[in-house]
Amino acid sequence: MSATTCQSCRAPIVFARSVSTNKVMPFERDPAGEWAVELGQATHVGPAPREPIEGVPTVERWISHFARCPHADTWRGRSRGRR
Ligand SMILES: [Zn+2]
Repeated sequence: MSATTCQSCRAPIVFARSVSTNKVMPFERDPAGEWAVELGQATHVGPAPREPIEGVPTVERWISHFARCPHADTWRGRSRGRR
């Protein structure tokens, strides 16, 4: 998994491939995020439980940077140009 920074807003992000859509997306760390990222693969795990569940390991949570980036329009424009 390659850690990098968003070229638009300089937020620390990682790129991971969504196991459901098979698309590579940028993610940023967020305890309220609904994604688990491991070995370059992102799995949508849903909202974090309010309290840790016994027997279920706490995973690092991530949120799609597409939703967060203040320059998301730039992102979209860029991915369109790459095709
Ligand atoms: Zn950004």
